[in-house]
Amino acid sequence: MTDTAPGAAELVAAVPGLARYLQPATLLHPYAEPDADVFGSRIGGPALWPTGKPWPHCTARHPDDDYRIPRKPPEERAVPTALIPLALIRAEDAPHLPWPEGSDLLQVLWCPNDHDDIQGERYYYGPAVELHWQRAAELTPATPPPPLRSEEDYYLPQPCALRPEQVLDLPDRDELPEELSSAVAEFAERRGIEHERDLGRADGWKLGGWPSWHCTDLIPIDCGCGARMTHLLTVESGDDPGLSLGRHGELHVFVCPVDLAHPAGLDIQG
Ligand SMILES: [Zn+2]
Ligand SMILES: [Zn+2]
Repeated sequence: MTDTAPGAAELVAAVPGLARYLQPATLLHPYAEPDADVFGSRIGGPALWPTGKPWPHCTARHPDDDYRIPRKPPEERAVPTALIPLALIRAEDAPHLPWPEGSDLLQVLWCPNDHDDIQGERYYYGPAVELHWQRAAELTPATPPPPLRSEEDYYLPQPCALRPEQVLDLPDRDELPEELSSAVAEFAERRGIEHERDLGRADGWKLGGWPSWHCTDLIPIDCGCGARMTHLLTVESGDDPGLSLGRHGELHVFVCPVDLAHPAGLDIQG
């Protein structure tokens, strides 16, 4: 988007039918901070966990396991691997998320390895993600075992603090019914805007709001229970967190609106 691209509010004023697609979102704006507040919203950094509870491990098969332990038969090659902290979010920084009763902190953990069979029929090749909705008062600093991981550091986030910014977000045109999509296209033409596909949608690390479909066009992300999942988090490649997802693209994490305990939905664009 250029500096002159209209924001979500201006778009809704021009195309009122968009109003019901407005979703609150928090842009995270991460910046390198090796000493970020352990209990504050952040990316990477030290682990927090309830005392006495085991640290989560990934037990999925990793394509790289074939190289790590080639002498075992394929069905015995999955190596349980400690997850690592990807992001920690305090409820006050993203109040619009679907916080379960009593929870005030979301930990996003992931397995810093590639996985190729964790999303059922849907194609996916990237890290496995777990969401833990917790109470800050029940957590203490923890020292998880080091993760087994690929040689590359693509999936090891550099510690960052955040500058959360609340915005209203609009979806890519893929998500809109034809008449609204056409109305946006006409508005863009009147304004001389060439790339109108994602007008009103914010890029970068983001909680809530809408995902980008810039590579594949819209792919419905359905939970195993049948519900259409909603966008929770966009993880962006590059900049201070220093991650690289897909071809230096972005990872989208989705949650089930029926039950947050259902496994997260995952999709990588680009
Ligand atoms: Zn794994
Ligand atoms: Zn579900």
